[in-house]
Amino acid sequence: MHFRQSIGNKLLIAFGFITGLLLFVSLISWYSLNLVANTGEYITHQTIPSLTNARELANLSLKITHTTTLLKNAQDQKERGLYSGNLRQLNLLMEQKIQSLGDIEHSIEGLNQLRDSKAGIIKNIALLDDYASQHIDRKSHFKASLTQLSLSINTIIQLSRSQVDNANTYTQVRLGGIYDLIEQANSSEKIAQTLDSVIEQDLNQLDKMFALQQHSLQLKHILNLAENARQLSQIDALDRQQSFHLGIISQLVSSIEDPQRLAKATNATNQLKRLHDLFVEKKNIIALSEKSSLLNQNISNLFTELNQHIISLIKDSTSLAQQTSEQHRKLVFWSEHIFFGSIFLSLIVVILVMWKVVYRGIVYRLGQHTSAIEQLAAGNLNVKAKSSGNDELSKMAQAIDVFRDNAIKKQRLEQQQVKIEQELRDYQENLEQLVEERTVQLSEANEKLHREATGHSEAKLMAEQANRAKSVFLANMSHEIRTPMNGMIGTLELMLDTELTPQQQAYANTISSSGENLLDILNDILDYSKIEAGHIALSLRAINLEKLAQDIIELMRSRAISKGLNLTFELDPLLSPWVMADLGKLRQVLINLINNAIKFTPRGHVILNITRADSKSELNKISFSVTDTGIGIEYAKQQEIFEAFTQVTNFSSESGTGLGLAISQRLVGAMGGALSLHSEQNHGSCFSFELQLSPASQDNINAQMQFTADSTYPHFNKRLKVLIVEDNEVNLGVAIGLTEKLRHQVVGVGDGKCAIEKMNSHRFDLALLDINLPDINGVDLSQQLKKMASQQGYQLKTIAVSAHVFREDIDKFLDAGFDGFIAKPVQMKRLAPVISKVMGGQNTVDINDEPEENKQFDPDILNQDLTYLGTDKVIALVDLFEQQATSYVQKLHQANALQQKELLHQFKGAAHSVGLIELYNLCHHMESNATKNKLSKEQIHAIEV
Ligand code: ADP
Repeated sequence: MHFRQSIGNKLLIAFGFITGLLLFVSLISWYSLNLVANTGEYITHQTIPSLTNARELANLSLKITHTTTLLKNAQDQKERGLYSGNLRQLNLLMEQKIQSLGDIEHSIEGLNQLRDSKAGIIKNIALLDDYASQHIDRKSHFKASLTQLSLSINTIIQLSRSQVDNANTYTQVRLGGIYDLIEQANSSEKIAQTLDSVIEQDLNQLDKMFALQQHSLQLKHILNLAENARQLSQIDALDRQQSFHLGIISQLVSSIEDPQRLAKATNATNQLKRLHDLFVEKKNIIALSEKSSLLNQNISNLFTELNQHIISLIKDSTSLAQQTSEQHRKLVFWSEHIFFGSIFLSLIVVILVMWKVVYRGIVYRLGQHTSAIEQLAAGNLNVKAKSSGNDELSKMAQAIDVFRDNAIKKQRLEQQQVKIEQELRDYQENLEQLVEERTVQLSEANEKLHREATGHSEAKLMAEQANRAKSVFLANMSHEIRTPMNGMIGTLELMLDTELTPQQQAYANTISSSGENLLDILNDILDYSKIEAGHIALSLRAINLEKLAQDIIELMRSRAISKGLNLTFELDPLLSPWVMADLGKLRQVLINLINNAIKFTPRGHVILNITRADSKSELNKISFSVTDTGIGIEYAKQQEIFEAFTQVTNFSSESGTGLGLAISQRLVGAMGGALSLHSEQNHGSCFSFELQLSPASQDNINAQMQFTADSTYPHFNKRLKVLIVEDNEVNLGVAIGLTEKLRHQVVGVGDGKCAIEKMNSHRFDLALLDINLPDINGVDLSQQLKKMASQQGYQLKTIAVSAHVFREDIDKFLDAGFDGFIAKPVQMKRLAPVISKVMGGQNTVDINDEPEENKQFDPDILNQDLTYLGTDKVIALVDLFEQQATSYVQKLHQANALQQKELLHQFKGAAHSVGLIELYNLCHHMESNATKNKLSKEQIHAIEV
């Protein structure tokens, strides 16, 4: 429904309709044009060639007729042959033309008639040719005979003429004789006789010969007539005349007296007997000529017929063309009408569509809506937009109405608002006064609150500081106490080795075990206060779970055995053997738990269990538990025991501080787990926790193995002569002490100058050189000392000692000729292996790869010093450090920025040597951030504090 109503769809349908009409009109015009083109093509391809062919055929027929006449009248065979050849060619042409007429659309009947006429013509021409040939032959034969016979006639004429002349002569002669006789007597008889003979003989002969001459001439005339005669009747008449004259001539010839001439004349006369044959031949020729004329006439008739057929064919095709063009003209006429009609119709439809859909449906309504919007915009709210139908414009009209309604509402609201604002302004004036009063009251209250809050946070800060101070104090105290305790226990051990009375022995034993207990307590307090004082940072490394368990069990075994307990461990074989964990903390917790288990188990066993945790969702989760068959803990007290300094059992034989579980719980928490307890009184307890420990990578495992290998302090057995150059006295003291502890002979000096002096008087195997010396750079000193040694003919090894532990620095030192490197502060676990390796010929470096924990104090460093240097020495060193510290602070106040940086560097080293990590970090931070400006008093004060 919605589809049909939209303007877009209306437009789409309307334009689609118009496009359809256009398509229809185009098709019609295309069709009409096609028809016109076809007609043109028909006329060009059919009518015109047809007419041309017909005309050419008519011309041909004329030529052929003319040539047949020539052929008919041909005088000799050569001429006939020429015309006959011409005719053959013309016939061929005619055949071709008729053939091409057949290619064009013509009635088959007409074409057949045409072909029949053509066949008749060709046949007649052949016949005519034959007749012409015969005619020529006969004519030439006739002529030859005619000539011969004419000759014979001429012979007779000549002979007769000569006989006439002869007779004439005789007669003359005889008559002349008579005249003679007349003069003579007696001549009358003779004259009579002579006259008789003249009359009887000579005149008769003359008559006869004259007659012969006359008939011969007649015959010749007849021959002449016969030669040119054209009609048969004429020839017949001439034939009769010749036979008459020939008869007379035959008789007269015999009268010729001269025998020779007689024979000649007789022969000629005999020849002339063939005259009849000649006349017969002449008749034949005339007949043949007549036949030829008839044939010629026939041929020309046939041509007339042929031309008529051609004309009728042309007429046919012309009328067909006319019909076709008439038909096509009609079609064009109709398509023109349809074309114009559809254009007209399309025009009307387009106008209608434009009017109804575009103008009335869109433009007009859009105009109305636009004017409504304009009026609305101008503020006239009385307009109303007409909405009819369900299309976009109707929706627009509805929207305009809604807009107008909203505008009216808004107008009303605005009017109300103006009213309210006025009221508000009135209120506001009152309110401002009120607010001012309340503000004064509030700010007083606020100030009071602020004072209280400041008091509270100060109190909190103080409490925290106090707590920290307590922890620091506890740590310091326990450390302070632990040091002499170590001394006391050590001395007691020495004393127990001496000869004592049994009573003295017993007292000493008691003192020793009490001392050890006290030491445990002190250690616990130290641990706890360490945890309380700062947060616990994890130091992850690859650890082997089995080794850990074995070591712990080994450590605790003697205690368990002394109580008759069975101490074992179980390790889940499916666990990854190497995991990433904080070894120290994990070890401490497990030792603590096993220690407690042994402590509170009179009989039975203690088991350390390390398995995969049940939790399926988390891989790598490992469960640690310590189970005992001891006295257990009653349910009500199970929470308490995790609090510091809490003990719930009166298990007289064992003592403790109540700190163990509190420390363990915090350490487990720091490692991401939670310590839990499952216990039943008199049946035993199980302390357990779960840790997320990822398997260690091979790199980590290798690093750890290397570390463990290195930390076994390989000892270089030979007693070496060692020169140590270090400007800080504390550091120098530590270094000398540790190196002497390795049983080497040591000379220590504070600067480069003294070092070179000592080099002149001693022969050293090894020199440990601080890099930052007051008078010379450690690198230069190393090179100088090495050079001196080689000049004296021996080799000196040097080890760089520096706090610069960046890899590039170390590489720089090694490149400059040092044989090894030790990071500050110098520690036994690093010093011993480096000396061994350097003297064994290996370049080696030591980097303090354990991250500095964020702690104030590292007791391990002092412990190490205590272990290797002894208490007196360490105390002396610490005293020395204190003196130095005071003088450093004084110097810092007086020094310029550059000197300050130098002092900070030295002080940093000294602080590290006595384990003051926080101070070390502070100095390090200041040194690396040192600018051109001097340190502020506050900054120096921070160091003092
Ligand atoms: P300490 O052992 O130094 O007294 P702890 O914090 O380690 O301090 O232990 C607190 C108390 O919890 C112990 O005094 C003891 O009463 C109880 N406790 C600890 N472990 C066991 C255990 N395995 N069996 C019975 N009681 C225990």
